[in-house]
Amino acid sequence: MSAKALAILVAAGRGERMGAGRPKAFLSLGGEPLLLKSARPFEAATSVGTIVAVVPATDEEAARQLLAPLRKIVAVVAGGERRQDSVLAGLRQAPAGFDGIVLVHDAARPFVKAALIDAVIDAAARTGAALPVLPLVDTLKRVREGRVVETLDRAELGAAQTPQGFRMDLLVDAYEQAFRDRVTLSDEAVAVERIGRPVAVVPGSALNRKITTPEDLAWAEEILASPRVGAGA
Ligand code: C5P
Repeated sequence: MSAKALAILVAAGRGERMGAGRPKAFLSLGGEPLLLKSARPFEAATSVGTIVAVVPATDEEAARQLLAPLRKIVAVVAGGERRQDSVLAGLRQAPAGFDGIVLVHDAARPFVKAALIDAVIDAAARTGAALPVLPLVDTLKRVREGRVVETLDRAELGAAQTPQGFRMDLLVDAYEQAFRDRVTLSDEAVAVERIGRPVAVVPGSALNRKITTPEDLAWAEEILASPRVGAGA
């Protein structure tokens, strides 16, 4: 592959389910802010050349200072109302003429490993789009008004994770179409799915969990303290 990947780290969500009263990106995990912790694996990955961070408008300056020690950071910009608005703000910071692989990663997933980053980049370079999917362990029920109406076939379902990777031109096309059609996207891959282009899947990881609630944060602290898993996390 030619150019190294561009990683867009999205951290502009309100983090309301955390109930901390301040942006999730600045919550401390293992003694350092979540945003910095999730930027580090991309800073370390040799397959990634540049990182753009998308943060709440109120915290742009604080985020810029926090990320200043990382040499791959090329821009820290304010996000938007919806996730897709934040991703678009990040895409606009891509170096002129960039035609490599763009990764979009939730800053709320601090335990992403280099092997997963590389697997997504390789699959996206081959197929155009790729994401990690974690098989489900629970049986899923469709529930309506407090009653089960259907049991879903777990074998066909999986949980979408990030980083999601795309050839730059494909993601731009898919995004332009989604914005023209005024649809709300719950992740980036769905923009590619809806224009009928293939999206490859690589195995997700249970460690790559999204830190959403106080319980998730407590889990993450335990992981960091665990001598087996915490080393290198
Ligand atoms: O809300 P959700 O859990 O899907 O958020 C996933 C990631 O997307 C988080 O890291 C969050 O900060 C980011 N996000 C964003 N801009 C938004 C909404 C979410 O950058 N408007």
